[in-house]
Amino acid sequence: MIRINDIIDKMFDFNTDADVDIVDRAYIYSARVHDGQTRLSGEPYLTHPLEVAAILADMKLDAVSVAAGLLHDVIEDTHATHEEIGDMFGPEVLHIVSGVTKLSKLPFDTALERQAENLRKMLLAMADDIRVILIKLADRIHNMRTLNFHGNESKKKKIAQETLDIYAPLASRLGIYWIKKELEDTAFMYLEPEEYERIKTLVSKDKAERETYITAVVSLIKKEMEAAGLECEVKGRYKHFYSIWQKMKTQELAFEDVYDIIAFRIILDTKPKCYEALGILHALWKPVDSKFKDYIGRPKQNMYQSLHTTVIGPSGERIEIQIRTHEMDSVAKSGIAAHWSYKEGNRPDEKVSRQFAWIQDLIENQENVKDPNEFLENVRIDLFPDDVYVFTPVGDVKALPRGGTPVDFAYLIHSEVGSRCTSAKVNGRIVPLKYELQTGDVVEIITSKGHEPSRDWLAFVRTVKARSKIRQWIRTQEKERSISLGKEMCEKAFRKHRLNYNVFSKSEDMQTVLEQFNIKTGDDLLASVGYGKITPLQIIRKLQKPDHPEEEKTESSAGKAAEQVRRKKIRAGVVVRGVDDILIRFGKCCRPVPGDSITGYITHGHGVTVHKIGCVNAVSVNPERQIEVEWNEEIKATYPVKIHVLSHDRVGLLADLAVNISKNGANIISVNSRTAENKMVDSYFLLAVKDIAHLDKVLSAIRKVKQIIEVRRTDG
Ligand code: MN
Repeated sequence: MIRINDIIDKMFDFNTDADVDIVDRAYIYSARVHDGQTRLSGEPYLTHPLEVAAILADMKLDAVSVAAGLLHDVIEDTHATHEEIGDMFGPEVLHIVSGVTKLSKLPFDTALERQAENLRKMLLAMADDIRVILIKLADRIHNMRTLNFHGNESKKKKIAQETLDIYAPLASRLGIYWIKKELEDTAFMYLEPEEYERIKTLVSKDKAERETYITAVVSLIKKEMEAAGLECEVKGRYKHFYSIWQKMKTQELAFEDVYDIIAFRIILDTKPKCYEALGILHALWKPVDSKFKDYIGRPKQNMYQSLHTTVIGPSGERIEIQIRTHEMDSVAKSGIAAHWSYKEGNRPDEKVSRQFAWIQDLIENQENVKDPNEFLENVRIDLFPDDVYVFTPVGDVKALPRGGTPVDFAYLIHSEVGSRCTSAKVNGRIVPLKYELQTGDVVEIITSKGHEPSRDWLAFVRTVKARSKIRQWIRTQEKERSISLGKEMCEKAFRKHRLNYNVFSKSEDMQTVLEQFNIKTGDDLLASVGYGKITPLQIIRKLQKPDHPEEEKTESSAGKAAEQVRRKKIRAGVVVRGVDDILIRFGKCCRPVPGDSITGYITHGHGVTVHKIGCVNAVSVNPERQIEVEWNEEIKATYPVKIHVLSHDRVGLLADLAVNISKNGANIISVNSRTAENKMVDSYFLLAVKDIAHLDKVLSAIRKVKQIIEVRRTDG
């Protein structure tokens, strides 16, 4: 059993100033609270935190990490409390220990590929301090090393699978390859014991012969390099069992055909020397063309650098060789470089690479940090700031954009769940539907049959899916409403003309009228009336003058032309989603201009009136008639807007104002100016501007005019 002094020695080896006091205290505390507990191996429980701390010390982590390693199980498994840990060891140790505890509670249940990827991301996202993950990995290493003490076969396999799915790829992504290899090989041993034994036997067969071969190749390379004046280090190593087995499996190779069971590595001082060494190798042995990769000239996204080549060696066998500098070697070995999703076929995006590069710098520079407490201190990471990861009640992970709400989550599960959701429970507690979900939340959606989506949801949903589904629903609703409104209007107008709309709608006349309007169905005709595109009177006229097609035609085309001009003038710049060619007016009360948030209201037969959101006249309208509208930026037009200018009275004031307004490209439609008794002037201008930005420009130009006290937009 490892002793605390061994750990402290390791820390001193690396850093003579290490703060071993906190480690000592953590040890004593951990020993006290774990006292009496045993591991499945029968050993005192304390051996586990000690081994974990030793792994962390071997990784040259700081004293806080080692102390947190000694304490990593105390909150979960003993009577120790958060408060106690905070009081005794400070906020930093507490933060890390709580983080590890929090991660232990994650329900890892499924091993689906996508799921595993989300779980890995979630682990990283939840551990806002990289040390939390490093302790979690050290914990897993020791648990895997002692897995044989678990009696239950299926439990062993489950833990091994989880290690292979979650922890080994996590270590790989962080660029800690020794952890990845150890976890993979141990998990492999439990998951595929026969295959593991087979590979092990095959590798150890002819081991002496292979060792001789390695020595021979190493010294041959070394001799050639030295002859060229290149000082270097040459190593030959076996690949780990799991990677050999993976290769045999994925490429359907027999063991004998996996040529790169042994890989060689040449380490030199400088970059140019790497290329020189490559030249020498290629002159000596014939390269396999397709196997050459220059990761020095083009580093991998995860910052990995090396030259990779495969050559036909002295006895006709293939030899895989990596060439790199000492610096590149240490990055590849110990850096928290991201192996990322490279192997999973995803291209890591730039943002993520940058984040990993940052961590990598940190790790690389750890040996240069003078004050050991500076190392990693207060380092908080946020690797995936744009995503949150949450659970379904059965433990599936779902990824949402940051700010995502239970409604987004519900639509992610299924459109039906989304549109029927009435409320949500997060971690067992009822929350508002606009609640911002946090990574790790367990979300339960409560639905009820016949429940409908709400327009208000649009204000807080974050996902495209939720937004488009809600909009789609609203459009359908709006169409239904305009059909019934159109019907009501038609029936009324027909009655006035002593006609019956219902009789008409079932008659052959209906078909004729539809054709004349170029409309397909009766419902579409009613919707057009409801939206104000067609008036009931137009229908009645068509109905009353079927015998005079000539006359009708002329009147109609003339009317149409006039209508088109009028319509073009007023509908400029606003679109109603999903509906073309609606009559649009702007509220005179608030005079919206592009850039203002707007909303529309279906009027009785006069199309849609657009108001600024919050305009008193808009608020008082029946919400049933509300319709979604937005600015159409493609249409260039000007819009009237009213401004008020308060100033002192002086000669030439109005002229100065007018010059400044027109200099900035705005037209004055009308002016109204009034001088009060106190020599103050109130001027009201109705201007034509392009949009809010244009208006702001004009307003700030006016503000610069002499003797101006106040300038503001008055409507809305
Ligand atoms: Mn543990």
